[in-house]
Amino acid sequence: MSEKRYDVAVIGGGPGGYTAALYCARSGFSVVVLERLSAGGQMATSEQIDNYPGFEDGVDGFELGEKMQKGAERFGVETLYAEVTGVDFSGSTKRIESSEGVIEARTVVLATGASPRELGIKDERNLRGRGVAYCATCDGMMYRDKTVIVVGGGNTAVGDALYLAKICKKVYLVHRRDSLRATPIYMNALRENNVELVWNSRIAEFRYDKRLTGVRIENIQTGEMRDIAVDGVFVAVGRVPDTKVFAGQVRTDDAGYLIADETTRTNVPGVFAVGDARTKEVRQIVTAAADGAVAAHYVEEYLLERSAKAKEAHR
Ligand code: NAP
Repeated sequence: MSEKRYDVAVIGGGPGGYTAALYCARSGFSVVVLERLSAGGQMATSEQIDNYPGFEDGVDGFELGEKMQKGAERFGVETLYAEVTGVDFSGSTKRIESSEGVIEARTVVLATGASPRELGIKDERNLRGRGVAYCATCDGMMYRDKTVIVVGGGNTAVGDALYLAKICKKVYLVHRRDSLRATPIYMNALRENNVELVWNSRIAEFRYDKRLTGVRIENIQTGEMRDIAVDGVFVAVGRVPDTKVFAGQVRTDDAGYLIADETTRTNVPGVFAVGDARTKEVRQIVTAAADGAVAAHYVEEYLLERSAKAKEAHR
């Protein structure tokens, strides 16, 4: 196993991570980005991104992720495809254990983002990829002319339902309350696209053979059960931050988001949090990228202060 040392280690190769990496590398620091799968993070699963400036026709999320990676690598950023398995941020040198060996760094930027929340229903994990999905734009095409359910009442669920309504034969939207959390303007669009709303309801059971064949739906208020034959269920009930590996090292809120203010500084000196994994109000590609630039500013400040102190101590 190799052991390498950098000025800055960035964990997570999404927009926040690669922006921090780009800025730090342009300031002359040695930078590694540890990425589990491919650049781009969550945005890599969107085929059309219209709310990132600079692309008049929008841009494919995977392509945007690759562009961000290449843009950072042009200034010397290294990408290490590795799973982070443990961290120790207690010393002035931060230690990161990964599937590809140990990385040591003087500073760390945490940019691990968030993943879709599961429903927590029996067989949900077994049926993932066999009828249960978490990304309509990634997997929707597999359900062309089929019947699907979207679960959730937020903007993601409604957006998914409208996207799938263009592809699928029939779309149900199952929500646990009797009103949407999503922007009210969507109600008309749902009606116009024949999305059938199933209020006050939850999926009680998945029915399957080799793959999903249907669901049993419970009306939470009346207890009434209803069986619906469906080919797919798209779960869109929010997201959870991917921060478990930092437990006990960096302070988080009750939901697991890394506590950091607009400076991106966490409670651990030399450790910064950016993007969707950080406590913040607006989670967008552009705000994650902005966090990356801000983190780089404070990384530089921290490293210069440490160098100045080290010089002072040697006098
Ligand atoms: P969200 O707004 O938190 O909505 C999650 C939905 O899932 C809620 O309706 C919630 O129900 C439901 N839910 C949560 N846990 C559940 C469970 N265990 N079982 C069943 N239902 C459950 O999450 P989101 O839709 O992913 O959106 C996240 C953020 O991104 C929001 O700020 C959203 O506005 C934003 N966003 C914006 C756009 C856009 O502007 N076009 C698109 C997508 C997302 P309750 O309502 O009962 O809590």
